Amino acid sequence: MKDDQCIFCKIAAGEIPSKTIYEDEEFRVILDLGPATKGHALILPKDHYKDLFELPEEKAEKVIRLAKKMAAAMKENLHADGFNIIQNNSECAGQTVFHFHMHLIPRYEGDKQKIGWIPGKPSQEELEEIRKEIVGEA
Ligand code: 5GP
Ligand code: ZN
Repeated sequence: MKDDQCIFCKIAAGEIPSKTIYEDEEFRVILDLGPATKGHALILPKDHYKDLFELPEEKAEKVIRLAKKMAAAMKENLHADGFNIIQNNSECAGQTVFHFHMHLIPRYEGDKQKIGWIPGKPSQEELEEIRKEIVGEA
């Protein structure tokens, strides 16, 4: 399952060169061209899935296992002090390349990078309404 128009399909297949830090039959892990920090990498499945919702469950399990392995390697070899894992779905959530990918972002004391959101201040009642909506009790 490849998409002829998709740049990450081509990178994952090795048709476009990339700085690859891991590869197996199903995945390629590459360095991001616009890194947030030193070592910022992307896990790409070799098959084309637009986002998390299209990613089959067994691949999702493998992605998180691989993320853990890569994070450990970067902590050790890049001397990262911390780590962010980010995965964007849809334009409104910041996705710009529509082939599933997981961001692996090593963090360093004092790196001054900002990854975050503006926290809301919901009441307990509002949280309860949302909880019901999510679990289908609304
Ligand atoms: P998104 O915003 O979709 O979650 O992340 C897309 C990421 O892909 C960005 O961090 C961007 O820097 C990276 N990126 C886009 N095009 C390329 C490319 O051709 N090669 C590599 N290595 N990274 C890319
Ligand atoms: Zn693709």
